[in-house]
Amino acid sequence: MLLKPEEVSWALEQEIKNYNESSSLESVGYVLRFGDGIARVWGLDDVMMSELVEFSNGTLGMVLNLEADNVGVVLFGSEKGIKEKDIVKRTGKICSVPVGEALLGRVVNPLGDPIDGKGPLGKTETRPIENQAPNVMERKPVCEPVETGIKAIDAMIPIGRGQRELIIGDRGTGKTTLILDTIINQKNKGIACIYVAIGQKDSTISRFIAILEEHGAMEHTTVVVASAADPAPLQYIAPYAGTAMGEYFMYKGQHAICFYDDLSKHAQAYRQLSLLLRRPPGREAYPGDIFYLHSRLLERSAKLNEEKGSGSLTGIPVIETQANDVTTYVPTNVISITDGQIYLESDLFYAGIRPAVNVGISASRVGGMAQTKAMKKVAGSLRLDLAQYRELAAFTQFGSELDEATQARLTRGERMVEILKQDKFSPYKSENIVMIVFVGIKGYLDDIPLPLVKTFEKEFFAYMNKEHKNIPETIASTGLLEEKTAKALNEAIQKFVELFKTRHKL
Ligand code: ATP
Ligand code: MG
Repeated sequence: MLLKPEEVSWALEQEIKNYNESSSLESVGYVLRFGDGIARVWGLDDVMMSELVEFSNGTLGMVLNLEADNVGVVLFGSEKGIKEKDIVKRTGKICSVPVGEALLGRVVNPLGDPIDGKGPLGKTETRPIENQAPNVMERKPVCEPVETGIKAIDAMIPIGRGQRELIIGDRGTGKTTLILDTIINQKNKGIACIYVAIGQKDSTISRFIAILEEHGAMEHTTVVVASAADPAPLQYIAPYAGTAMGEYFMYKGQHAICFYDDLSKHAQAYRQLSLLLRRPPGREAYPGDIFYLHSRLLERSAKLNEEKGSGSLTGIPVIETQANDVTTYVPTNVISITDGQIYLESDLFYAGIRPAVNVGISASRVGGMAQTKAMKKVAGSLRLDLAQYRELAAFTQFGSELDEATQARLTRGERMVEILKQDKFSPYKSENIVMIVFVGIKGYLDDIPLPLVKTFEKEFFAYMNKEHKNIPETIASTGLLEEKTAKALNEAIQKFVELFKTRHKL
């Protein structure tokens, strides 16, 4: 058989035409050593800090240490199947998570993968988990309240949208319950809630989610879970991932709250990572950048100015203390970063004062600006009454002879403390808080026996809603307690007190 030259050239031409370059360059490295969730990788010369890399068994890792001859990578999953000299591939992506409305109502892990069995997320965008905080010029002072529905907090330790308020206390003092109450109270208020559970038991987290569902509060909530069983690297990135999800709403001009429960466990996870990466240990064996760990997280909470869309991201971190000691390393750091703290104390908790807020040492440094005028008006006297009561109560434990003025102050204080007690999962409307505190500071409760104060409160709200509906409505719609309203309220209370006394034969 003879081949014609033109046929050969045609065949060659076709070959050249159809040749497409299918090979591509991939930057890879090789595992030198691994163990305890950390891998040392050789190669990967051009890898970026915080870049995701992929191991041969499909596990993702994040680059945390860039050293001269190797990089330190933390693993987000199982080490099973990884061997020395295995290939590690770059992904070219900085660690990021899906964000958007589709995440509301969902439970996800810190990489944004749903773990609630409700199928894939809907339409989402992505945001890097680490992000620059808004600068000074882009911010503005807080001006709208976050209503927690908890009397003691809304009246005396108010939180503004965009603020950072720390919840601090020993274990079992009701920290998580405060958060649950706050989330439940945000129903239909247009604030997205992101709860980041770090290092907690799976059973605790599932109970938390069940309570939210029971109260219909899951619709506006995302739960990010890095439980005690998850690898330390996942616990480490969880709060940053949650913040990225919150930032989506803030930069869209909407409002969100991020709860970090809790940052003590977060610091411990980071300490574990750092020690394994052989970073030098400092005080309490924490690495030197433990302050930066939390400051760069909490600085991302902000209230943006009009130019940036007026959105806000409120940060509510939780810190667990040992034996009420707030002077250890991590608590003092976080106290100095936040705009105020809510102290919960086990003594109060076991004495039946729940929520166990110590209002004497709790503070909110900026939230007052976001409080309604009506609340501000009544809260001032409340604070004073309570402060005087605390001072006297400490003294009078020893003596029995009390003059009349002292006795009166004690009586008033006891009733105020009683008013501030509140059952869990029963948030109060802000106008109701104003009214009941008003009743207290005006002395209407002074001759009501202590055990009846709770009954008084309940019947009082029912009475006001039935007979004087306009008063709570005015307070709610205007946020003011004007002379006229106060007078009407006074008269209504007087009538009710008489009714109450005859009904209970006082
Ligand atoms: P941990 O340190 O274990 O995380 P915690 O500080 O988050 O604990 P919670 O789990 O919120 O504490 O509360 C401990 C217990 O106290 C729970 O059983 C909770 O139901 C109860 N509790 C908290 N607040 C109240 C309240 N206001 N009224 C009645 N019970 C409450
Ligand atoms: Mg808790």
